Amino acid sequence: MTLIRSDRVLKGLPELYQMDRWLEQVDLPARVHTLAAVEFGDEGLPLYCFEMGTRDPTAPAVIFTGGVHGVERIGTQVVLSFMNTLLQRMSWDDSLNQQLQQLRLVFVPLVNPLGMLKRTRSNGSGVDLMRNAPIDATGKVPFLLGGQRFSKHLPWYRGRKGDAMETEAAAVVELVTEIVQEAAFVISLDCHSGFGHQDQVWFPYAYTADPFDDIGEMFALRLLFRRTHPTFSFYRIEPQSRNYTTHGDLWDYIYRQTLHQRRGTYLPLTLEMGSWLWVKKNPMQMFNALGVFNPLLPHRHERVLRRHQCLMEFLMRAVASFKNWLPRPLERREWMHQAIEYWY
Ligand SMILES: [Zn+2]
Repeated sequence: MTLIRSDRVLKGLPELYQMDRWLEQVDLPARVHTLAAVEFGDEGLPLYCFEMGTRDPTAPAVIFTGGVHGVERIGTQVVLSFMNTLLQRMSWDDSLNQQLQQLRLVFVPLVNPLGMLKRTRSNGSGVDLMRNAPIDATGKVPFLLGGQRFSKHLPWYRGRKGDAMETEAAAVVELVTEIVQEAAFVISLDCHSGFGHQDQVWFPYAYTADPFDDIGEMFALRLLFRRTHPTFSFYRIEPQSRNYTTHGDLWDYIYRQTLHQRRGTYLPLTLEMGSWLWVKKNPMQMFNALGVFNPLLPHRHERVLRRHQCLMEFLMRAVASFKNWLPRPLERREWMHQAIEYWY
């Protein structure tokens, strides 16, 4: 298959170009489908989904997503870079191929292709996909940042009340919901950048300061990571609501929607790469300039791509062997207490 794209798309979206090249590879050890496409002139920009590992829908699964916000290219690039490593390793690494017999890996590296092409945080209709789910915060949210319905010309626009979710958001919700309902255990990692000086791993909720149901399991995962990789202490791991609360968070929505329809535990994580250290810029450029959200110098760019591979690899292993560390039903309460004491 040869994919033809206009020059504007080729030049403006090297991330899509890389995925197109993978699609052309006859022996690519991954299954690819297009979740949806958004229109750009007479072209369609695809939301590609790559799957590796077992086809068994009940197997434990890890989901990696990126590029929900068009200006945060580095999120997509971190996912693509990790995928490249895996695709290479699958051709020679028996231990990885063995692991993948019991594990399902799902990647949606670029959720908002038109936003990335146009260099906007929002999608083509001016909607912030991470404020677009039909879920309202329970308390007060920060003005604008928490999600707003005033205008699509202001950042953090949620879309019109009562409208269906945007194509891109709905595609992610549908995909993840289906996986979470069937799989024995699921972790998702959504890669963002642009908030704070430090790399952070956030978990639910965004819509309330209350703890989520799997807080004990989350605490066990944190402990496992800290013990296994003590030199990766630079991640701050905490509920999103400790930073700010928002309306319309996609992960809150999926988590809540599937709460009573799941076979196993689901931990939705967000990697928020602290980019404020990378470059200092005019605050007015926050919503369309790439400098605030992405490392621009080559050595720094490579460092960021490399920096998160350990976390992603760890998540794969933790999910594949979840039975060896996940709190058992009788221990759940104790873990929950510890978590609440630690974080709340
Ligand atoms: Zn983001």
